[in-house]
Amino acid sequence: MKVAVLSGGVGGARFVQGLVDVVEPSDVTVVGNVGDDLEVLGLHVSPDLDSILYALAGLNDVRRGWGRADETWRVLETVRSLGGETWFQLGDLDLGLHLVRTQALRAGQPLSRITLRLARALGIEPRLLPATDDRLHTWIRTPSGEFPFQEWFVARGHRDEVDAVRFEGEESATAAPGVLEAIADADLILLAPSNPYVSIGPILAVGAIRQALAARRVPAVAVSPLIGGRAVKGPADRMLARLAGGTSPAHVAGAYSGLIDALVVDEADAHDLEGLGEVRPIVTRTLMTDLEARRRLAEAALGAVPA
Ligand code: GDP
Ligand code: CA
Repeated sequence: MKVAVLSGGVGGARFVQGLVDVVEPSDVTVVGNVGDDLEVLGLHVSPDLDSILYALAGLNDVRRGWGRADETWRVLETVRSLGGETWFQLGDLDLGLHLVRTQALRAGQPLSRITLRLARALGIEPRLLPATDDRLHTWIRTPSGEFPFQEWFVARGHRDEVDAVRFEGEESATAAPGVLEAIADADLILLAPSNPYVSIGPILAVGAIRQALAARRVPAVAVSPLIGGRAVKGPADRMLARLAGGTSPAHVAGAYSGLIDALVVDEADAHDLEGLGEVRPIVTRTLMTDLEARRRLAEAALGAVPA
């Protein structure tokens, strides 16, 4: 069974870890968000792609939730002592990847090709593709002004309420090579338990990807990132409350209107399934505490495909 999964960073990476444990990894294509990408200290950083790379390679720091395990910070200390830019933390091990990627981008290679090469070098079997090779930048409008995504998320600790999300470059961004093919060839399309607005939203902002999902002939299943109406981590619940008017399964499904056939929701939200319309709820435990929990969650989502 071929699976295409749209994914943000940490929540998405955890889910994909379970997924590749229950389906043949080489049958999985992960389409990752690049709306968060930024330049730090002259280097191109793709935080969401890297979370997936590190998780699938088993190199991720489980406790911190981002970056690499056994990381050290000597470069950052030097940068700080020299009065350089330190608001976005890059560890010594992590920096190696950003150096390789940035050099390849400067040499004119597309991000998709570089990402495939990095995945191969890390021994990762599933295919990981950025949604687009084109410039696509997420901007967050708040009562205090509009900020580039990472300035709002990291530098301001996503403390400002969000009035709107905008994707600079969306009019002209095209799907990266392989993305539309993966969606067309898939027997199942999955939307990971990622932030609908700032992780899955930028992927769907690529017109051709949204159209491919809308025109699908196979089931599409989203996994809710909320448990009991609350985000496990991050601002997804606050954003849904303010932008969609609530945090029920129907509000999550509303972010994917016309694009999904089923929504995996947590048992803690099972009392609140009103308003889902055509979207079928799949109720299970969705907290991805360990690999077993991730695997069970992936199996629940796969259950949407008739055997
Ligand atoms: P980011 O790009 O690193 O912010 O990561 P994502 O957007 O992929 O994931 C963030 C979302 O993952 C948050 O909204 C969390 O609520 C959700 N999330 C994290 N862990 C879990 C989990 O164990 N279960 C569920 N259902 N959602 C989770
Ligand atoms: Ca992200």
